[in-house]
Amino acid sequence: SPPADIIDGKAIAATIRLEIKEAVNAMQAKYKKAPGLAVVIVGERKDSQTYVRMKRKACAEAGIVSFDKDMPASSTQEEVLQAVKDFNANPNVHGILVQLPLPKHIDEQTILEAISLSKDVDGFHPLNIGALAMKGRDPLFVPCTPKGCIELLDRSNVEIKGKIAAVVGRSNIVGMPAAMLLQKRDATVTIVHSRTPGAESIVKKADIIIAAAGSAEMVKGSWVKSGAVVIDVGTNSVDDATKKTGYRLVGDCAFEEVKFVASKITPVPGGVGPMTIAMLLKNCLEGAQRMYAP
Ligand code: NDP
Repeated sequence: SPPADIIDGKAIAATIRLEIKEAVNAMQAKYKKAPGLAVVIVGERKDSQTYVRMKRKACAEAGIVSFDKDMPASSTQEEVLQAVKDFNANPNVHGILVQLPLPKHIDEQTILEAISLSKDVDGFHPLNIGALAMKGRDPLFVPCTPKGCIELLDRSNVEIKGKIAAVVGRSNIVGMPAAMLLQKRDATVTIVHSRTPGAESIVKKADIIIAAAGSAEMVKGSWVKSGAVVIDVGTNSVDDATKKTGYRLVGDCAFEEVKFVASKITPVPGGVGPMTIAMLLKNCLEGAQRMYAP
């Protein structure tokens, strides 16, 4: 069959970021207020610092004020907890993001549960996740990466209702919430994980596949039903001597095979990745909108 349409996450994310910027301008004009995002980072991990820098830059471009809290790796749990509490109490902050992972001596669960539900822009608070899982309930915030996957489907005119979907991976931040979101949108969802026997034949039944296993190119062309839509969350670096950096990024799908079976597919990089930050900005905007115009 002809190669799949490429779902251009970079272009879709750019459009969304412009829409957010316009909404922020409208908020400024009407309420003389801008959305505020607090970004807490503890320690000096290079990858975390890169993500935080990208998030802060994206905020600035959209007119969202970022409140920076950079804490040393030696910070105590009490100190990090206090930082969260201060942002909970700050009326100019509408979203609080604690960059994970935290240093080992700090209990992640305690910190995440201290974030005010109405400022939980990452959507990781158990009460927001609980509402996501429940019928007839809607969480205040949905985790950014799975929200970005759904937005990619919607903006590519892929109908979700009534479709068979397979999600590969069941992590709290991607696979599980992605499955819940698809189910809320009336798809019939199977979750495949590392203990699933016969994963290939399960995935092959799906009209929509969301791959989030963190396993380079594990979903082969033979796993995919002809005409399926494939959203590839995986971001895996593999050695590549032809690259200056010595590595390249690949997804969880074998792109060169899958693109001849699927009807639509996201590339890696340039698919889900750019959507995650766009959804963070969107969550922050929506948090502020709820506070000023409930
Ligand atoms: P985790 O490692 O937390 O979870 C991986 C999940 O996949 C687990 O549930 C695991 O099963 C399952 N899994 C692993 N290997 C297999 C396999 N061979 N077959 C079936 N299931 C498998 O990863 P994350 O959810 O945090 O991330 C997944 C991928 O998405 C990673 O590549 C990550 O880099 C990428 N990512 C990309 C983002 C973006 O913005 N583009 C954002 C976040 C993540 P089990 O539960 O049994 O262990």
